[in-house]
Amino acid sequence: MGIRIALAGNPNCGKTTLFNALTGSNQFVGNWPGVTVEYKEGKYKGDKEVKIVDLPGIYSLSPYTLEEVVSRNYLIDEKPEAIINVIDGTNLERNLYLTTQIVELGIPVVIAINMMDVVEKNGDKINTKKLSEEIGVPVIEISALKNRGLKEIVDAAVKAAKEAKPQSPKHRFNGSVEHAFAHIEELCLHGIEDENVQRWYSIKLFERDEKIQEKLGLSSDVIDHIEKDIASCEKELDDDAESIITGERYNYIGTIINDCVKKAAKGLTISDKIDKVVTNRWLALPIFAVVMWLVYYISVTTVGTWATDWANDGVFGDGWHLFAIGSSDYADAADEFTANQLIVDGYDLYVEENGSEPTGDFEYPVEDEETAAVDYETASLDDYAAAKAYVESNEEPDPANYGVWIPGVPVFVEAGLDAIGCNDVVKGLILDGIVAGVGAVLGFVPQMLVLFIFLAFLEACGYMARVAFIMDRIFRKFGLSGKSFIPMLIGTGCGVPGIMASRTIENDRDRKMTIMTTTFIPCGAKLPFIAMVAGAIFGGASWVAPSAYFLGIFAIITSGIMLKKTKMFAGDPAPFVMELPAYHWPTVGNVLRSMWERGWSFIKKAGTIILLSTIVVWFCTFFGVVDGAFTMLEEDQIDHSILAGLGRCLAWIFLPLGFGDWEATVASITGLVAKENIVGTLAIIYGAAGDVYETMRAAFTNASGFAFLAFNLLCAPCFAAMGAIKREMNNTKWFWRAIGYQCGFAWVIGLIVYQVGKVFTGEGFTVGTIFGIAAICVLLYGLFRKDKYNK
Ligand code: GDP
Ligand code: MG
Repeated sequence: MGIRIALAGNPNCGKTTLFNALTGSNQFVGNWPGVTVEYKEGKYKGDKEVKIVDLPGIYSLSPYTLEEVVSRNYLIDEKPEAIINVIDGTNLERNLYLTTQIVELGIPVVIAINMMDVVEKNGDKINTKKLSEEIGVPVIEISALKNRGLKEIVDAAVKAAKEAKPQSPKHRFNGSVEHAFAHIEELCLHGIEDENVQRWYSIKLFERDEKIQEKLGLSSDVIDHIEKDIASCEKELDDDAESIITGERYNYIGTIINDCVKKAAKGLTISDKIDKVVTNRWLALPIFAVVMWLVYYISVTTVGTWATDWANDGVFGDGWHLFAIGSSDYADAADEFTANQLIVDGYDLYVEENGSEPTGDFEYPVEDEETAAVDYETASLDDYAAAKAYVESNEEPDPANYGVWIPGVPVFVEAGLDAIGCNDVVKGLILDGIVAGVGAVLGFVPQMLVLFIFLAFLEACGYMARVAFIMDRIFRKFGLSGKSFIPMLIGTGCGVPGIMASRTIENDRDRKMTIMTTTFIPCGAKLPFIAMVAGAIFGGASWVAPSAYFLGIFAIITSGIMLKKTKMFAGDPAPFVMELPAYHWPTVGNVLRSMWERGWSFIKKAGTIILLSTIVVWFCTFFGVVDGAFTMLEEDQIDHSILAGLGRCLAWIFLPLGFGDWEATVASITGLVAKENIVGTLAIIYGAAGDVYETMRAAFTNASGFAFLAFNLLCAPCFAAMGAIKREMNNTKWFWRAIGYQCGFAWVIGLIVYQVGKVFTGEGFTVGTIFGIAAICVLLYGLFRKDKYNK
């Protein structure tokens, strides 16, 4: 059998860097079963028989965070043949705290003092020989980033594993504590199969670790017995058991540091100097705002939009101009042609509506492509004559005639399907269902990769750690960690990378909460919908768009406060202990790897979910019952579709929110596929009756219109984002919990907006209003009730 080596250490000590350096591309990344903590396993480059496991970063082997539980369960239950304890050499004192516990597990340990490049640069000296003697394990200096000492450390670990001499700790606790351990061992540990881990168990039992009591299946009798030993020891030393152990560990570490470390007399390092500015009380936030604005601007607005347009309209659209040659010429020509065509169409429309030709200037409609808003412009008869002449003498410009034109995937697929004589149903499924659906997902990818590069860079150079530190003070007040800020910020572009960015949050509870609340912030795809509601229902009022953002922030803050008071998210609030690693230039390889890991997992997982759901929605949109027969529908028969039927069945859900008709219901459902769909769907449905905006205005009141907006902004996000939630939660129950919470919260807010809002918009007070007020009371209760679980 091969050798398994586990990398254990504090967060940010360089485990993953070491792991990547040791395994190269032979790695498997996933999540630990049932939880959202990252799991990485790989084969050592130098010897395929050696397997390396990257454990979650922890400060201690206590049971308080999921990461700690995952790491220690792996070490105790899976018993790797050896442990490499990775230590950040620039911060020995804090890192050794974990070391003192790891050597108690009875598994062979070697210590890798990492970041030696930085230690040396600082001029500090670590006496590794002495350190090794005092702790009783081999100590090797390495630099994971600079590829130093890598072979030595693996060789040492393999050697230790082959000798299989169980580690025994050199450190002894105070006499009466050791006495209590001896009692505990005698009482309940002599039977267990692996003697080597006895000492660790007795220390944990001394600390009243409930998970260990459970694991060993101790009877209440035995626990009472142990309790007596502990109590007498506590009395003697006048402190509680856990503090006794912690205190002694730190004393021990103090002596080690004294003996083995010589710090250079030090002024401020470059990192300290940068931090003086970057984490300055007044400058921190403005600097952060500028940095994020830049990242956001470049990845979403400039490069991102360009890349996404290219992917959506080009690769997964009609096609694109190679290197954009000829594309602006084509755009000019197309614009000119369209402008003329609109005048001609407008003239015909006038004739149709009035039954006679215009005698002077006439108005013609111009529709905004994104929001479906209609504007009217005026043309004279001369304009019409010129336009008509232009349209008649020119063909509609074909992009293929400009520059080097490469047709998009759908064009190829369609041509292929036509060539093999495919029938219309299959063709519709493949083109409108699969290619369009998968294309819509893949269209996000370039933009995401650009964003991920920036994030990976900011993370690896050490800036993100500072941001979390800065934001933590504010976020802590409503139950979220500072690290939650970044996903939410990214979520303003697209919820998918936002949710994926929650990976950087190491605490499991905080991460779950962040995943659940990130998509409350309006993403880019919701903007056209917001614009449409503002235009159609609120006459273009300028307060509507900002109110959508405030609603999102409000939803996040109230959710944070309310959820933190529930049992699921409570518990000891994870203390924000975080080392601020020294700033440094990350390697290109690491940044690219991190980008690709995130991007690829999105493509894989979200891709499959989107694929399935688009097929289902396509089917429901294009099939239905016409004249008693089930058939494929024409474009204007959407109210016969299965989707419309479904809308009628589900409309009752939205009755209390004021928009219980099938049209709004169907729009909300298609919004689950992609939020852009809401506008498209409403445009098709309302457009069938004439002017989209007018019909829509008639279908809503101010109160129900805003309730419609609020519900769709806050409810479960699009399928792609749901796919991301599923992946990041890595647990079906938690996935449904998140979706359920989002929809429930959105519904309640919609109810309040409509029922209470209508009193102010002159629709009067009804029975429903009482429910609306009751809902407000429930929210207030959730916000202000006593917090049972947190101190
Ligand atoms: P983990 O949380 O333990 O997995 O730590 P990472 O591997 O993610 O590393 C944290 C940071 O330390 C990253 O920015 C690394 O680039 C950096 N780092 C890791 N090893 C070294 C090293 O040997 N020298 C220097 N200067 N930086 C390192
Ligand atoms: Mg890591």
